Amino acid sequence: MAGIIAKNREDRPYALTDGGGCSSNLSNKFKKRCLKNADRTFAQATQCQETNSIAALLSMEDAAFVVHAPNGCVGCVSFMNDNFKVGQFHRKIEKIRNARYIVTNVDEKDVVLGGEKKVKEAVLELENRYKPNIIFIFTSCASGIIGDDVDSVANIVQKEVNAIVVPIHCEGFKSRVPATGFDTVFKAIEKYIIKGEKPKKEKGLINVFATTSIGYKDQLEMENLLAVLGLHVNYIPFYSSVEKLKRIPAAEYSVAVCQVFADEFMEHLKEYYDIPYSKTGMPIGIRSTDEWFLSVARLVGKEDIALKYIEKEHERVLPQIAKIRDHIGGKRVFICAGTGRGIAAATLIEDFGMKLVGIQTPTYEEALIENFEQLEEIHGGDFIIDIANMQPFEQSNLVNKLKPELFIGMSTWVSKLGVPSTHILESKRPTFGYNGLLYLGRKIENAVENPSFNIKLAKHKKLPYKNSWYSENAFKYFKEVGNEE
Ligand code: SF4
Repeated sequence: MAGIIAKNREDRPYALTDGGGCSSNLSNKFKKRCLKNADRTFAQATQCQETNSIAALLSMEDAAFVVHAPNGCVGCVSFMNDNFKVGQFHRKIEKIRNARYIVTNVDEKDVVLGGEKKVKEAVLELENRYKPNIIFIFTSCASGIIGDDVDSVANIVQKEVNAIVVPIHCEGFKSRVPATGFDTVFKAIEKYIIKGEKPKKEKGLINVFATTSIGYKDQLEMENLLAVLGLHVNYIPFYSSVEKLKRIPAAEYSVAVCQVFADEFMEHLKEYYDIPYSKTGMPIGIRSTDEWFLSVARLVGKEDIALKYIEKEHERVLPQIAKIRDHIGGKRVFICAGTGRGIAAATLIEDFGMKLVGIQTPTYEEALIENFEQLEEIHGGDFIIDIANMQPFEQSNLVNKLKPELFIGMSTWVSKLGVPSTHILESKRPTFGYNGLLYLGRKIENAVENPSFNIKLAKHKKLPYKNSWYSENAFKYFKEVGNEE
């Protein structure tokens, strides 16, 4: 099974993780292969791949987890656990429970003497407490730096427990792109669970690979769309189980929630298990929902059915969208989100007649260039692209200069600049398909028409940057000359 997801995302051919400038300028240079990774001499508040690896698996029904890390590395898990519990409520699970995990709390003593003993003890404790079918062991920067041999521990302890013990090598320092953490998970799923086995094909079964941020309403929206095409869903990896993961190769088709998630894994499934797949942007907004649905319909040879369905749905929602457009059309928007959701948000605002002025994206690569060209067709080629994993100092500088009338995304920082903000990362409400479009439209309209919270916040709370920073070039800390605003 050689070759499955052997690389970090930044090691893919011509994938950039740092850079920025005017969209048309970047895409021209990219196509001529003369756009280089800028590399920052200063960086702030980046996200790590370990978080994504944990998030991908935390909701598995029959799993328990060891996080071999200092306690700080699981800071985000309380937030994931909250989503997990809300997800159980939405799925009508009666006995709502917490995720089952133990953190080894790697400390100074472990750094000197090694922490492998703690990992073994944690696995045995989880087996004893919960009798799970599978126990995942997540590594961290600290466990990687001290060289703990988690694979050997897993092999040794496997003889003492019934659960399958699976190491996940997700040390944060190993990749600049947090989405690598998802790839690491899929690699382990193949190696320890699927193991090259080829069960009998199940007619009409489609794997739907979804990121952690997808709520139950959005899961149902995708399942309803796919049911129109006569398909039933194996939804992976959220709220799944060992049994559901083993069922992956039984599917006739695969689709992912966006063009980024599980892309290499779906290619692997095509190569080794003969499962064709469709890869498009996230089904948010009219254009992206149509494309997502149609691309699956083409895969299964039912384009005519999809087109009829789309026509009916457009008749239903477009008059309501037109009303929203009357209120917020022409407003200028800055977007900061993960690559797939960010691009989807930039197509979504087209429905409301809004104009993109800037977008932050964690990567800019071959697989996305068509998407960015499509955004240029929609919004013109003059919007700013900031290729960045967070970097709030750059974001604040750009937003302050561009003065958008709405910010979509994580607004922790820019809300203190007084810019009206909202987000479309809703794991508790609908954002996908034609129904999600209406919800998001009303939400965006509400944010634009009610900016007083952000205006008041800006009066009372300042960001930590000096005023002089806002007149500097936002890309001042790039090593590579030639990236310009
Ligand atoms: S694994 Fe590394 S980068 Fe990730 S939270 Fe822990 S220390 Fe930070």
